[in-house]
Amino acid sequence: QTKTEPMRVLVTGGSGLVGKAIEHVVKQEGGCLEGEQWTFLCSKEANLVDLQQTRAVFEKYRPTHVIHLAAKVGGLYLHMKENLHFLIHNGPPHDSNFGYSHAKRMIDIQNRGYFEQHGRRYTAVIPTNVYGPYDNFNFENGHVLSALMHKTYAAKKEGTPLQVWGSGTPRRQFIYSLDVARLFLWVLREYDEIDPIILSVGEEEELPIKDAVEMIADALDFKGQIVFDTSKSDGQMKKTASNAKLQRYLPDFTFTPLSEGIKKTCDWFVNNYDIAR
Ligand code: GDP
Repeated sequence: QTKTEPMRVLVTGGSGLVGKAIEHVVKQEGGCLEGEQWTFLCSKEANLVDLQQTRAVFEKYRPTHVIHLAAKVGGLYLHMKENLHFLIHNGPPHDSNFGYSHAKRMIDIQNRGYFEQHGRRYTAVIPTNVYGPYDNFNFENGHVLSALMHKTYAAKKEGTPLQVWGSGTPRRQFIYSLDVARLFLWVLREYDEIDPIILSVGEEEELPIKDAVEMIADALDFKGQIVFDTSKSDGQMKKTASNAKLQRYLPDFTFTPLSEGIKKTCDWFVNNYDIAR
């Protein structure tokens, strides 16, 4: 199709952390242009592992563009428990999440193959640790911030200490889901490379888990004791990602400050406790 034909965008994984944020930006922040059709698909509507169901969905919506978000995801501890479930390619990254890492690396290989062989222009975005409303807040399987928000909420309610897993010294770059969503729309409309792009705050903003824990405690007004359970793994000590490429394209993009994103996510969690995962 040509650039002037309005896009029909199919978003898989539409009910997840990033899918919901994109839906918000499209519907509430004017991210949708005149004539465009946006479909947010969830696993209830189609099982994308089933070829026939997948074909039926594509025939139904006839998308001109696809934002493919559907995936099996989880925090450090779920990876360590079920590496095999995250794996789609036989082949070794950090021991704690080798399965997921190879699966994501293969996306880039696949995109290059599609371009070379079929001239298709697919690309991959690589966000650092994403957090925000609609995340998975599960104690065991959630990512660090959402799991700790839930744990802090429970510790406050029960008057017990907050148990942080690991030493609190590993460092991470966190990005708010709504920022990811805004950047997704930019990638969809403007970014022409097949080579992937890292969506991240600057390297200097990589901060220790314990600093983020303090922001969560502040946001939820938790005044109890904070304990670091060093019998649990720290995972990678740091995962520093460069945002130089993004900076080059979008020098003026402003990221939601971590304390503000954490506050918004905590408020969302408290107000949506019944529907939160
Ligand atoms: P990662 O960035 O891929 O390692 O994944 P996570 O988002 O799960 O972050 C893991 C880091 O947060 C490790 O250093 C953990 O020790 C630390 N952490 C502290 N408490 C928790 C918790 O309750 N859940 C998780 N997932 N990580 C925690």
